[in-house]
Amino acid sequence: MAVAAVFTALGYYTFTRRQTPRLADEGNNTSMDKIKKTDEEWRNQLSDEQFRVTRQQGTERPFSGEYWNTKTDGVYTCVCCGTPLFDARQKFDSGCGWPSFWDAVIDKNVTKRPDYAHGMTRVEVICTRCDAHLGHVFDDGPPPTGQRYCINSASVKLEKRDAK
Ligand SMILES: [Zn+2]
Repeated sequence: MAVAAVFTALGYYTFTRRQTPRLADEGNNTSMDKIKKTDEEWRNQLSDEQFRVTRQQGTERPFSGEYWNTKTDGVYTCVCCGTPLFDARQKFDSGCGWPSFWDAVIDKNVTKRPDYAHGMTRVEVICTRCDAHLGHVFDDGPPPTGQRYCINSASVKLEKRDAK
């Protein structure tokens, strides 16, 4: 399923790039094709909670999301655009009530930016392709990275890995 998801993403990538020549810097964040939709289009596609979290920088209540305690193997993709974001094999039990990962499945698929909301200085994590708010990353994670990506269940969709 993970392979299928990657091929789906690649297929979409190829499709959207068909009218422009391949660039030498392809692979940089700056060259990733962005997905832009109106709030109305996102609302039609997402549940109220998914819209609130991903498009309005919301946060789901801890221990309330679909995946905070999930051990199922697979790849977590962006609920908005399907981009592979996190691997269940890099998920760990942080005890914080949100799905937590010590790395992103592909670095360039997630973008980090400073977030000064609520009187705190944090690092927000968004989907590079569609700018969906995913959560925050902290530097108190386990080895080998020491990173803790604290992600809202509402921002992602688990694509189970095939047993084959
Ligand atoms: Zn996305």
